[in-house]
Amino acid sequence: MPAKGDTPETKLLSGTWNMFRPVFPLLIFLLAITNCPAAWQVIMAEGRRHVPIEDVSRFYQLPKPIKNGRFFEIIGKGRKIRGEIGKREIFINNVKYVLCFPIRERNGSILISAMDVTKIIEPVMRPSLIKNAAPIRTVILDAGHGGHDSGAKGSRGIEKEAALDVVLRAKRLLEQSGYTVHLTRSRDVFIPLEDRAAFANKFPGAIFVSVHFNKSSSGGATGIETFALAPRGVPSMDEENFSYSDLKQHRGHARDSENIALATALHSSMLRQMRLFDRGIKRARFVVIRDIAIPGVLLEGGFMNHPVDGRLIASSQYRDAFARAILEGVSRYRSALSGRRDYQEPSAVASATDKSSVPNLTPAVSATGVPSSLNEAVQRAAEEIKKKAAEKPSPTPNAN
Ligand SMILES: [Zn+2]
Repeated sequence: MPAKGDTPETKLLSGTWNMFRPVFPLLIFLLAITNCPAAWQVIMAEGRRHVPIEDVSRFYQLPKPIKNGRFFEIIGKGRKIRGEIGKREIFINNVKYVLCFPIRERNGSILISAMDVTKIIEPVMRPSLIKNAAPIRTVILDAGHGGHDSGAKGSRGIEKEAALDVVLRAKRLLEQSGYTVHLTRSRDVFIPLEDRAAFANKFPGAIFVSVHFNKSSSGGATGIETFALAPRGVPSMDEENFSYSDLKQHRGHARDSENIALATALHSSMLRQMRLFDRGIKRARFVVIRDIAIPGVLLEGGFMNHPVDGRLIASSQYRDAFARAILEGVSRYRSALSGRRDYQEPSAVASATDKSSVPNLTPAVSATGVPSSLNEAVQRAAEEIKKKAAEKPSPTPNAN
């Protein structure tokens, strides 16, 4: 962690070239925009480059943002981008992204960091423009944990077994659709994280999908989340403060754009197929997504120790839904990159962000047979558990 008083901003601004490098690609991006009718208005806020959301609308040829107090929305051409001043999240076609930095306001303008424009909005809005992204036919599936490392435990099962089962189901579906699949483990065996990354790096044209389930200390947390590697210079997860490792260059950074496009395709497919609470697309520096040379994400398919999630995770219907989400997400990613739609309904969405990719979150009976009131049930159960947890001391936190 930086010493007190030595803020990340002062480091980034007054520091050496090395410290400046994280923002260099943003400059390139902003300078390279030639099809924009007017230059981006770059505004410094909190020591970082930001742009007004009006510039985002104009650049992507969308209608002007609609502002309502702290909220804004950009709607048009099958796209919907919405956010709120002060929040470190944005919704693109109803998929939630945890931003690199919060949305700010300066002199009546709503600002988004240039880092977030380059690292989230651009690859999500125009995945077909991602450089060097080859159409993939090979998928590396990574079942989390194994052997003596059980991962998260719930009353109805353990993470290592559920993850392997989902991976084996996804492998079958992917192979039936013509993909080549390699597994980091196909049985209950312990494999160090570094070895998993090294294995993935043997397949240069592939993508990497790591399958996990979560656990919360209170037992009250629910929902699905997807992790993509935090870009260099961006704090990971919910942290706003920098640490030294945030500034290090990792192998996975060469794939920042593909990583967020892959996360988008898989996460929105998970929302559609699994119908659990959306915890969003987040950033982290887990070894398996940090040290790989190919695009990769880590999926968390629910909480083992949540009563509703745990029951679903134990069911074969939910595991099938997870496997279908992986197939659909991989196919959508492939199509989004190629700019083509090369598969049929029901997984039909050409681009990770086109109109038909908006997850349908309207109440309905899901593919898993879970009633439409699932989300409310989840919330109620969560509230009850929170109440109970407040009455007794929490168990040890788990870092799965
Ligand atoms: Zn795990």
